[in-house]
Amino acid sequence: MFTNLINWSKDNYINLPWRDERSLYTTLVSEIMLQQTTVSTVRNHYNRFLETYPTVEKLAQSTEDEVCMAWKGLGYYRRARNLRKAAIDIKEKYEGIIPLDYDDLVSISGIGDYTANAILSIGADQKALAIDANIERVVSRILGIKSKKGPKLHKILKQRFEDGDLNIKKTESYRDLNEAFMDLGRNFCQARKVTCELCPIRKSCEAFKSGEPLSYPESPTVKTAKYYDLKLLRVFIKNRKRIKGYSKSEKEWLAGQIEVPTFVINSEDESLKQYPKLTKKIDLEKLPKFKTSITKYKITNYIVTLTDKEFESFSKSKKYQFFTQDETKTNFATSATKVFKKLNEA
Ligand code: SF4
Repeated sequence: MFTNLINWSKDNYINLPWRDERSLYTTLVSEIMLQQTTVSTVRNHYNRFLETYPTVEKLAQSTEDEVCMAWKGLGYYRRARNLRKAAIDIKEKYEGIIPLDYDDLVSISGIGDYTANAILSIGADQKALAIDANIERVVSRILGIKSKKGPKLHKILKQRFEDGDLNIKKTESYRDLNEAFMDLGRNFCQARKVTCELCPIRKSCEAFKSGEPLSYPESPTVKTAKYYDLKLLRVFIKNRKRIKGYSKSEKEWLAGQIEVPTFVINSEDESLKQYPKLTKKIDLEKLPKFKTSITKYKITNYIVTLTDKEFESFSKSKKYQFFTQDETKTNFATSATKVFKKLNEA
């Protein structure tokens, strides 16, 4: 049933670097990168990361800072830290060999249901369905399942897959099929747009036959997100070629990265605990500024340049230290690099 679809996927997407030289380890790395990041961004960073960390062993020996540095450009750094933890677990519990058993895989720190199924299906070509948002949508449409997106639908899809309702031929590989579904979901079968007339599986697709493919599966009721305005003061202190900053802790946004000293001028969300409150009066009028956003906060960042001596009246905390300004060697957070760029432009 899926031969046309698989051939279409192979004809068009075989050149993705993670499909070139495949192993369980490269599948682990690429699948974690591809969660929450587009194919084109991962394509730009995948080879560089693997050159630095070609094996589980190498990754397990790294420090968290080193892995976050190699992860630069991919965002959502929690994934980098989880990937490192997974490598340490695989080294300690499985002598560096990624196991091929679902229960063993999900017992590894940083590997959940999706990644375990991706390793089994894409990495080892075993019978498994790696249900991400693309596969959830595509398979629901092919089978004509209208249920709401989410864990209940995942359960239904898994069961229907196990029951053989997808009519997968013995000659069709699970690896190729999972990848073809993902390719279809990114291209012809998107959440708000379908191009059924070009789809290689349309003759067997229940949603297409219904004439309303976009109504499969149902979207969950979305609560309108509330955003908070936040004003921050970013303090730039330079000493020779080094810049004052601090390493962000596990509980903070962008953990493990280096941030310049930052203070809350004003926050609509009074429960915010990411930065200390600014206790000094400061005239914001003439300060350079830039806008950013993170989670539910829309941030206006004001930049003030101080000497180390002047900074003493802002904070005496010992957490601030000087770091080399080399952005390629120091893991500065994007907000810190924006401060440098803004000051260079001024
Ligand atoms: S026929 Fe349309 S709805 Fe069905 S899988 Fe293809 S693109 Fe999606």
